Amino acid sequence: MSITETTYKCKKCGDEIPANTNKNLTSCKCGASAVDGCADYVRVIGDREDWKQWEVAGAEDVVKHLPPLTKEEVEHYEGL
Ligand SMILES: [Zn+2]
Repeated sequence: MSITETTYKCKKCGDEIPANTNKNLTSCKCGASAVDGCADYVRVIGDREDWKQWEVAGAEDVVKHLPPLTKEEVEHYEGL
């Protein structure tokens, strides 16, 4: 399965971010959400309600690509 053409769209600002960000954490224009992805995994940071893709792909389908966040990462994302 390929995730390279998947995009995540923020419901708040309408900004779209490709799932494959080459492991660069990329936030949307309003900063409500961010995506960190590559060919092997995709992390979607932010409120699930803000992302249409969560509904399209199904949250479980996305979650299985998520490696566990470290404590430091969680604190970083919460501070965004
Ligand atoms: Zn946004």
